[in-house]
Amino acid sequence: MLDERLGDPLLRDMLLLPTCFYGSALEDDIEVSQFAVMWRSLFREGFARPFIGVRQVIRLLTDRCREHGVERRMKCGVTKIEVRAGRAAALVLDDGTEVTAEAVYSSAGAVETMRLRSDAEPAAGTAAVGRLGYAETIATYEPAAFAGFGWTDTIVFFCDDERFAYRSPEELVDPRSGVICIPNNYQYGEGRVLDEGWLRVTALANHDAWCALPEAEYQARKQEWCGRLNRVARAHLPAVADATHDAALTSTDVFTPRTVRKFTGHLNGAIYGSTVKRRDGRTDLANLFLIGTDQGFLGVTGAMLSGISMANLHGLKA
Ligand SMILES: Cc1cc2nc3c(=O)[nH]c(=O)nc-3n(C[C@H](O)[C@H](O)[C@H](O)COP(=O)(O)OP(=O)(O)OC[C@H]3O[C@@H](n4cnc5c(N)ncnc54)[C@H](O)[C@@H]3O)c2cc1C
Repeated sequence: MLDERLGDPLLRDMLLLPTCFYGSALEDDIEVSQFAVMWRSLFREGFARPFIGVRQVIRLLTDRCREHGVERRMKCGVTKIEVRAGRAAALVLDDGTEVTAEAVYSSAGAVETMRLRSDAEPAAGTAAVGRLGYAETIATYEPAAFAGFGWTDTIVFFCDDERFAYRSPEELVDPRSGVICIPNNYQYGEGRVLDEGWLRVTALANHDAWCALPEAEYQARKQEWCGRLNRVARAHLPAVADATHDAALTSTDVFTPRTVRKFTGHLNGAIYGSTVKRRDGRTDLANLFLIGTDQGFLGVTGAMLSGISMANLHGLKA
């Protein structure tokens, strides 16, 4: 569509890079409807970040749940969805207990949810498992020194290659394109400044390659890529001498697709989940619904909107 309308490969790539990085589960493409959402969010409305980050959102949600007497069970996964007579009859938990409900809403992912079913084939839905994983590095800095770096941008999208490639790389990480974020530079309001400097760099990464590494090698490669992505990012920012930079550095952290898989359970550590979205949230079981990434709304706000929309559509309306 962009090619047809614009006829300018460079402009097309410039529009695709931010929209893909922030919301496409497809390699080298983005669904038109998702592009429209991303266009609006990124280019028309602009970026925003709560002062204390995502904790702000989580706090609001947990407070609201508490008000409504929601019981939240942590560190107790669902090991099986018992299927009887075309319905999700019960959820079996890690500790062996069973939970029953009129309706089940799952944010574990479309394929991941189907594989939990008592009647599932082990490799069910393999073709629809997403392949797009990210590596992200975070560096923090002593605030006074950081202020002197002259890094005034908030988000920088970069591509050091002629063409933008949005696909799982052959190597551990594809450093040719990515997103640089400096959360300090959001406008938080009068007198509100973060207590340390932050530099975050996000790039495409290969899940299988990271997962194949033995533990010691995994840790070593993480450290190596932490340094490499930091240098890639700094090439796009006002120059700061290595000695000045290193003296101000207070901590670093890295996540890989393996980290994402560990903490979210998403197969392949796919950041935006399956390549196939199910907009109506339905499954072939009458009372099992999908919410979150694989229903089709991406990101933090998308995940919340998804749950609300599906509960309205399938639960409250009924
Ligand atoms: C590092 C990072 C930074 C991000 N930054 C942003 C950002 O700045 N803005 C933004 O909008 N989006 C961001 N995203 C994306 C955003 O986090 C996701 O799009 C969103 O969380 C998806 O929500 P979800 O509910 O679909 O899935 P998830 O948040 O992945 O939740 C799935 C949940 O299901 C649980 N689960 C899985 N299997 C089971 C099981 N068998 N039993 C019980 N529980 C299970 C998992 O533990 C997990 O809690 C970021 C993602 C990452 C990883």
